[in-house]
Amino acid sequence: MEVEITFFSFDANDNDVEIKHKLPAVHEVCQRCEGHGTILNPSIGEHCYTAEEFLREFDEDERSEYFTRGGMYDVVCPCCKGNRVVKTVNEEALNASQRKVYAKHLEYLREEERFERIQASERRMGC
Ligand SMILES: [Zn+2]
Repeated sequence: MEVEITFFSFDANDNDVEIKHKLPAVHEVCQRCEGHGTILNPSIGEHCYTAEEFLREFDEDERSEYFTRGGMYDVVCPCCKGNRVVKTVNEEALNASQRKVYAKHLEYLREEERFERIQASERRMGC
């Protein structure tokens, strides 16, 4: 089993190039749904109800559905597509060159994350 990773790097001419690598993979319990295969519908789950609103909007049955895994408000987990597990890079099975590639991939993800955080804080400051 393999998983494909992608990241961007620069070639000798300073052009953005997409680099793809196949690395050995393992199945890991999905973090998003904690292995349930379903998550609370984001349109509901990400709405911040106050306790008062919650009591007004939901009747007793609905309230228990809200807290039930696989209940009527749950949708198939977008990360694992309901498989409960996701394929992830098997770090222990990497050889030396794959390890380097994977390290670059992680570095790239961290850069991306930092970039997004900077953008988000600029937005907050009204840029
Ligand atoms: Zn999942």
